[in-house]
Amino acid sequence: MASPKYQSPKGVHDVLPDDHLYFSFIKKVVRHRCREAGFRRISTPMFENLDVFVHSLGDTTDIVEKEMFTFESKSGKKLALRPEGTAGVVRAYLQHGMQQLPQPVELYYIEPFFRYNRPQKGRYRQFHQFGFEIIGESDPVIDAQVIYLSHKINQDLGIADRLSLQLNTIGSSEDRSRFKEDLINFYTGKERSLCEDCQKRLHRNPLRLLDCKEEDCQILASMAPKFANVMSEESKEHYGLVKEFLDELKVTYTENPYLVRGLDYYTHTVFEYWSQKDGAQNATGGGGRYDGLVELFGGTSTPAMGYAAGMERTIEHMKEAGIRPPNKDRIHVFVAQLGHIAKKRSLSLLNEMRERGINVVAAAGKASIKSQMKVADRLQAEYAMILGQIEVQEKTIILRDMDKGSQETLPMDGIVDVVAEKIGENRLDKRNMWEE
Ligand code: AMP
Repeated sequence: MASPKYQSPKGVHDVLPDDHLYFSFIKKVVRHRCREAGFRRISTPMFENLDVFVHSLGDTTDIVEKEMFTFESKSGKKLALRPEGTAGVVRAYLQHGMQQLPQPVELYYIEPFFRYNRPQKGRYRQFHQFGFEIIGESDPVIDAQVIYLSHKINQDLGIADRLSLQLNTIGSSEDRSRFKEDLINFYTGKERSLCEDCQKRLHRNPLRLLDCKEEDCQILASMAPKFANVMSEESKEHYGLVKEFLDELKVTYTENPYLVRGLDYYTHTVFEYWSQKDGAQNATGGGGRYDGLVELFGGTSTPAMGYAAGMERTIEHMKEAGIRPPNKDRIHVFVAQLGHIAKKRSLSLLNEMRERGINVVAAAGKASIKSQMKVADRLQAEYAMILGQIEVQEKTIILRDMDKGSQETLPMDGIVDVVAEKIGENRLDKRNMWEE
C-alpha cells in the first residue's frame, strides 16, 4: 500500500489510544506520589525567551549548541521551544515571587519537550517528561527525598528492577573550578587520543570528557585525576549524608564517579537511572542539585534539587516488563437496535447509562443486528443490549454477556440498575489502587 502523502515530521510521533493508556497511568502515579509528598503542579509555556535556556543550561552544552528549536517572533525576539523543564520552573519561581512563600517550594510538571537531535529509538524531537523540583532548601535530606520519590514512582510503574540508580557528586562550583584545571592539565598533550567532540570540549567544558561514550575517551577518563582529591570537606560531608539517608530509606545505588550530567547548572548530588540492559544509552531519567541556578537568574542565593524522567523511555520499559496499565477506555455496553422506534428509545437509555458512569457505544445507521453484533465484538464490549421492534412493544431488552456468549431478556424498566450492578461487579475484580 502506498504511504499517505502527509506524514508527521521526522522524529515526532502521534500518541495513539493504546499508548495513552500508559501515559494516563504514569500521570496518575506521578500525581498521586507528588501530592502525597506535598508537591503542587506547575505548567510553564512551551516556549521561552532563548536567553532563559542559554543562560541556565550553559552555552557549551549539547542542548544549547546543537539541540534547540529556536525561532524569531515577528518582532525579532529570539525564542526557543523548551528542551527541558527546570529553567522554565526557576524563571516562574522568580517571576511570581515564590521566594516569599514558605520554603522550600515543591513543584512538579508533566509536559512535552523538544530537542533537535538525531532521531533513534528512545530519542525523539518531541518527547514527554514528568519532573519535580524542591526549591529553597540545601539540606542533603532533600536530595535523598527527591531520589526516593523518583525510585518510588519507578516501583509503582513496575520498572524499578530494570533500572540501576547511578549516583555521584560534582561538588560545589569552587570544587569544580579546581577540578577543571586539573583535568585540563591532565588532557593537555593527549588531545589526539580524544574524539572530535571531546577535543572541542576540553577547554570549554572539560567535565564532559568524563562521561563521553567513545571507547578511547573512556580509557583516558579512567586514568584522569579523581574529583575526590580536590573536593572540599563540606562537599564530601553533604554527599556522605545523602548516601546515609538513602541507606536508611533502603534505596540501592551504584556510585559512579564518571557521572556528570550534561548541564552546567548542577552542583553536588547528581543521579541517573540507567537501564540494567543498555546502560547509559537508555537512561530513563536523571537529576540533581542546582544550588546556583536561582542566583544565576538574578534571585538571591537559593539552593534547589530536581529530577526529570522521559515518559516514552519509561513506557518502553513498562512494555518490555509486560506491565499493562488499566484500560479505562473499555466499552462496557454496546447498544444494538433495529427500527426507528427502537433507535429513538435507545437515545435516552444511552444518556441514562452514561450518567451512571457506564461507557456506552451505540450503533447508528440501518445495519442488521448480526452486523451490529460484529461491531460490538470488535470493540470488545463487555455487554450488548439488543433492542428490536418486539422488545420495544413488550417493553423488554435483550442483554448479552459478550465474554460468556449467553443472553437473557429483561424488563426495560430498571435495566440501567441491572447493568450498572453487573459492570460494578466486574470492575471490582479488576480494581487496583490507581483506579480510584
Ligand atoms: P536529561 O535531563 O537530558 O537527562 O533528560 C531526562 C530524561 O528525559 C532522559 O533520561 C530521557 O528519558 C528523556 N529524554 C531526554 N531527551 C530525550 C529525547 N530526545 N527523546 C526521548 N526522551 C528523552
